[in-house]
This record gives sequence, C-alpha cells and structure tokens, in this order.
Amino acid sequence: GWLEDNVMIVTGGGSGLGRALVERFLGEGARVGVLEKSAEKAEKLANDFGEDVLVVEGDVRKYDDNARVVQETVRQFGRLDTFVANAAIWDFSTKMVDIPVDRLDALFDEMFHINVKGYLHGARAAVEELAATGGSIIYTVSNAGFYPGGGGPLYTASKHAVVGLIKELAFELGPKIRVNGVAPGAMPTDLRGPGSLGMGETTITSVPLGDLVKQCTVLQELPEAADYTGHYVLLASKANSRTATGAIINCDGGMGVRGLAETAGGNDL
Ligand code: NAD
Repeated sequence: GWLEDNVMIVTGGGSGLGRALVERFLGEGARVGVLEKSAEKAEKLANDFGEDVLVVEGDVRKYDDNARVVQETVRQFGRLDTFVANAAIWDFSTKMVDIPVDRLDALFDEMFHINVKGYLHGARAAVEELAATGGSIIYTVSNAGFYPGGGGPLYTASKHAVVGLIKELAFELGPKIRVNGVAPGAMPTDLRGPGSLGMGETTITSVPLGDLVKQCTVLQELPEAADYTGHYVLLASKANSRTATGAIINCDGGMGVRGLAETAGGNDL
C-alpha cells in the first residue's frame, strides 16, 4: 500500500466520505484515528473495524476534542502522519433571501463553527505531531470552494474560507508540514443540514443528485464516496506527493470545464 505504517486521523469518519477514507487508508496499510460526533456511527465504526481504528466520540467544534483524538491516536499508534479535516454540514443551498432574518446569526455561527473553525482546531491540535513526522494536513473542500450554486451563501463562503486556510497554513507550516485539499463534487452520503434551520436530520440523499450531476458536470455520473478517496491517498503519500503543498485537487467531474450549450463536447463520441 501507499500508506504502509502511516498513521492517519479523519474527522467525521462515521459516514460518507470520512468512512470511505477510513476503509481506503486501512487498505493502503495505515492505521486510523477518527473523531466523530454521532455516538451511533462511532460505535458502528469501532465494531466494523478492528484494532487498527481508534474512534473518539467528540465534536470538531471543540478544540479539546481535536486535541484528544490526536493524543489518543499517538498514544495508541505511536505517531501521526496525516490529519484529514473532513466533518462538515451543508446548508441545502438555502438562498440568502430565504434565510429567516432572525436565524441569520445562528446559521452563520453554526456553519462557520463546524466547517471552518473545526478545520482550524484540527490543524492546531495536530501541528506538533505532524512536524515530528514531516506529515501533512488534507482538508475536504467542495465544488462550493470554487463555484456558486452548490450551496447557499454560508456553505459557499465556508468552503471558500477553507481554500484560504489551505493557502495560509501551507505557507505557515512549511517546510515541515504540507497542507493540501481535495474538492469533491456531489456524492450520496449522510450529509446533514444546520440545526439552526431545523435541518439537523435532513440528509443530502433527499436531493436528486444524479440529475444535477448530469446537468452540470462533464463526466455526468454521480460518484460514490469511495471514488474520491484516491486523491487523499496521493496527497498523503510522502513518496508520491512530496512536491505538493497549498494544492487542491478538483475532482468534481469537470464543473469548471463544462460547456454552455451542452455540458460535454464528446456526448456523441
Ligand atoms: P456525512 O454527513 O456522511 O459525513 C460527515 C460526518 O461528520 C458524519 O459522520 C457526521 O456525523 C460527522 N460530523 C458532523 N458534524 C460533526 C461535528 N461537529 N463533529 C464531529 N463530527 C461531525 O457527509 P459527507 O458528504 O461524507 O461529508 C464529508 C465532507 O465532504 C464534508 O466536508 C462535505 O462538505 C464534503 N462534500 C460533500 C459533498 C456531497 O455531495 N456529499 C460534496 C462536496 C463536498
């Protein structure tokens, strides 16, 4: 495997992309620590994978929980090579004018607390251990880190903020630590909405993702979470990505290179 003897941490490893990453990293020879808020998902993760996965139940919004997963992972597995900050929520593309004015403060705080401050907490908590191994940070971005319409203003702004964190931290933490991102497009997962809009139990699978992807991407097919995991393996691999920092792999099916009259020029090939 490409990550033989590496130790990884994934936030939000309980479902969707995070869980696919846990599985893939194990397959590449790594051991994995997970920070996950849902007790149910945390327990399932611990049951499904053996002693190569260490699960810490906690909330990325709290610095101390990020510090705890780093501490316990290093105590258990001896080192830390890559911290993947991935846990986030989506705003279900709620447009600005559709956000009740009396919910605006709460919604902003909730989105940015999880999607941005959580990522900052993770990096801060991991920095000493990553410096010790010449490791790296990988942030899950989104097509919404580049283009409008994949979220409302708060999700889109939060993912643009993640792009800013990647660039600034790549500068600040080099040369010892590389900082990169992966920007996936749509995938059917358990991605939830903000509690402040009453959407804490709503999941992205309630949206017709397959139709959307057909309309707005060159590749036109809705991927599974597992289809995005190779990009993380590449960026984490010291042997294969030692020249990459401040880089973001856009793997959204070609949203930025679609056409106007038709999404793909090769539809008739
Ligand atoms: P998901 O909900 O299946 O996975 C996210 C995990 O994070 C869940 O297990 C959830 O319980 C956990 N989590 C949520 N809030 C947390 C918190 N405060 N503390 C700790 N854990 C928390 O959703 P997903 O689609 O796999 O999302 C993973 C990443 O992918 C996110 O950054 C998301 O923005 C990004 N993304 C998703 C899509 C998509 O279409 N699903 C598209 C682009 C980007």
